[in-house]
Amino acid sequence: MNSPLEQASHATAVAAALEYVPVPAFEDNYIWVVSDGRNAVAVDPGDAAPVRAYLAKRGWRLAAILLTHHHNDHVGGVADLLSDERVPVYGPLGEALGAADAFVTRLKGGDAVHLDAPALDFKVMDVPGHTRGHIAYFQDAGSIGAAGTPHLFCGDTLFACGCGRLFEGTPAQMLASLDSLAALPGATQVHCAHEYTLSNIRFALACDPGNAALRDWSQKAAGLRERGVPTLPTTIAHERAVNPFLRADDPAVQANLAEALHETVSDRLTAFTLMREWKNRFR
Ligand SMILES: [Zn+2]
Repeated sequence: MNSPLEQASHATAVAAALEYVPVPAFEDNYIWVVSDGRNAVAVDPGDAAPVRAYLAKRGWRLAAILLTHHHNDHVGGVADLLSDERVPVYGPLGEALGAADAFVTRLKGGDAVHLDAPALDFKVMDVPGHTRGHIAYFQDAGSIGAAGTPHLFCGDTLFACGCGRLFEGTPAQMLASLDSLAALPGATQVHCAHEYTLSNIRFALACDPGNAALRDWSQKAAGLRERGVPTLPTTIAHERAVNPFLRADDPAVQANLAEALHETVSDRLTAFTLMREWKNRFR
């Protein structure tokens, strides 16, 4: 029989384990919810209804909201959620966030976010490209609540096997943003905001057909989607191996782009720019 002290420390350990859940919204968004079993953080709640329904089902209470960028499918549910209860909202400096604007604590790269419940610490990263002020939230392996595994919430910057469209930034900005994410520890769990993986893989195979890890992932991801299972989270190590947008310096990727697009590809920024433009029209 455990002593009361052992039972107490066991209870503490259980309470400290965080759960990371992708709550589906709209056609293909995921609103990530992080919870300690009682209190929850919602990342990019574009719609209040699925968040509210999921929290009710689990008996969790909304404690804070994190926003990565201003697009409505990421911020559209904030005002509605705040009408239930006013909770802290964090978001990017320099982006108009609609009805959420008045409530947001503004963040920029290098800032830190600390939440008491669930106990979480994030480092904020500037990742412009998809939008000009886009930020990402990185939870270090050693930080409170992380239990030795780093986590990243990157909105529409990095996707499984892809990256966000360049609505406001330049290819050079987006490439630098992706470089900063690719430099995170390989074990980092990457929580992307859309289930785009299968269509991204189709494009990735056109850019990098000789990549065995990519072909293997193509099979596995198709199997997951057939069963209705999310392909996320991914990891930074996996993305370095299979994501063509993180492989713009790979000679095979550059040679394939040159051949497919009848272009001269002499450097990684050219390769990245051509790849991103090709993806926009790829069917
Ligand atoms: Zn977006």
